[in-house]
Formats: sequence, C-alpha cells, structure tokens
Amino acid sequence: MKKLCFLIISSALLMSCNSNAQKKSKEEQFPVQKTETEWKKELSAEEFYVLREAGTERPFSSPLNNIKESGTFICAACSHPLYETKNKFKSGTGWPSFDQPIENGVFFSTDNKLGYTRNEVLCANCGGHLGHVFDDGPKETTGKRYCMNGDAMDFIPTKN
Ligand SMILES: [Zn+2]
Repeated sequence: MKKLCFLIISSALLMSCNSNAQKKSKEEQFPVQKTETEWKKELSAEEFYVLREAGTERPFSSPLNNIKESGTFICAACSHPLYETKNKFKSGTGWPSFDQPIENGVFFSTDNKLGYTRNEVLCANCGGHLGHVFDDGPKETTGKRYCMNGDAMDFIPTKN
C-alpha cells in the first residue's frame, strides 16, 4: 500500500512537472553555471561524485550525521543555505535527514536510476545533487524525509 501511494504521488508530480512545458533544460535554470571541468577543480573527489555525478556516499560516513548544535547546512559547491538544524531529525538511515528545507533552498527533479521514480533534491542555486526526498518522515511535522549526502553540504554553526 505504501508503495502504491508512493507511485501515485510520484506520477502525479511527474505529470504536473510535464504540464508546465519547461523550455529551459534542467541545467539552464540555475543561477550558478559552471562547466564540469571548473567544478572538478573546485570540489573534492567526494563532493564532485555526489554533487555533479549524483553519487551516494556510504551511510554513516559523514560527520554531519551527528551535528545537533544550532546552525545552517549549506551547499558544499556554492554555499547556498539548504537546511537548518532545527529541521534535522534522527532517521537511523546513516544520512543527514531533515523534515523540510529552507525556503528556496532546494529544487526538485526526478530520477529513475533504481528502476523506479525517486524525487531528487538539488541545490536551487547551482543544481548540485544533494539527495532524495521520501514520504516516510516524522508524521508530527511534515511527513517528509529529506535524505541528504553529507559530502554535498557544509555546516555553519550559529554565532552567539
Ligand atoms: Zn549549490
């Protein structure tokens, strides 16, 4: 049943995206535009693999998993603010998880890499791949689980 709901929701999302007759390609709509060669120079190998090649880091590998102090998670490529610690929750998946992004922080796309449609989450500023969003998040807040790669983000603690 859960799977069926997910399918219905994702195909609805897919249709609503298609009906918007987007003229620009996915890459063209981001304010920050760089070539893959430029990104390769600026990013570490791990960052490039996640952000530009849509890779996934090993679970429990990111130090950002354990961050509980107040602050902002920013894009590792362009420093765009993405998430706040107050929206982080313990998902047990081994990837930093949030129930909602900062307003205008992220951009949604879809991918079928695993043979079914997943809602992909990209940085709204540079288009870098961050992770995916699922509908099994905390019910008491948004019900969403933004499953992020720590390699795609940096953490800026709030200054007191
Ligand atoms: Zn970015």
